[in-house]
Amino acid sequence: MGLKPILFVPDPLLRKMASPVEEITNDIKQLLDDMAQTMYDAPGIGLAGPQIGELKRVIVMDCSRDEDGDELWQMINPEIIQIAKETTTLEEGCLSIPGHNADVTRPAWVDVRFTDINGTEQQMKAEGLLAACVQHEIDHLNGVLFIDHISKLKKNMIWRKVLKEVRHS
Ligand SMILES: [Zn+2]
Repeated sequence: MGLKPILFVPDPLLRKMASPVEEITNDIKQLLDDMAQTMYDAPGIGLAGPQIGELKRVIVMDCSRDEDGDELWQMINPEIIQIAKETTTLEEGCLSIPGHNADVTRPAWVDVRFTDINGTEQQMKAEGLLAACVQHEIDHLNGVLFIDHISKLKKNMIWRKVLKEVRHS
């Protein structure tokens, strides 16, 4: 219960495929609440199950940045069902790759289908920062990191620094 330790690259769990949640048990609800708490504490705007070593298809997000209050999303088995043809580029970071940001180009909006914490199937149209965030978090469920979307040169640069930091910690 409560805060969970966040895994950092190059932890191999971050490259694993997460499994769908079959049943929304109290354990799953607790997990989603722990994830929200961990995300706010970090602080971050999104967190996916694999980032705390839970290989389940669950994500939490809050991209409101306190502008108009908390807007917490807790999604079970999220799935992108439609993507924009147009793209947009935003700077992204990741709680599992602390201290490294890069511009990432992704579809400008996406429609997402997911099950909420009460077991109700819902759909959401995400635009702007939320669109980037939900794609970033769903990527985590498939073992994909934002550095996989940037140039090889930039990725290698970040990777070299990450490995250096790991050796020194
Ligand atoms: Zn991330």
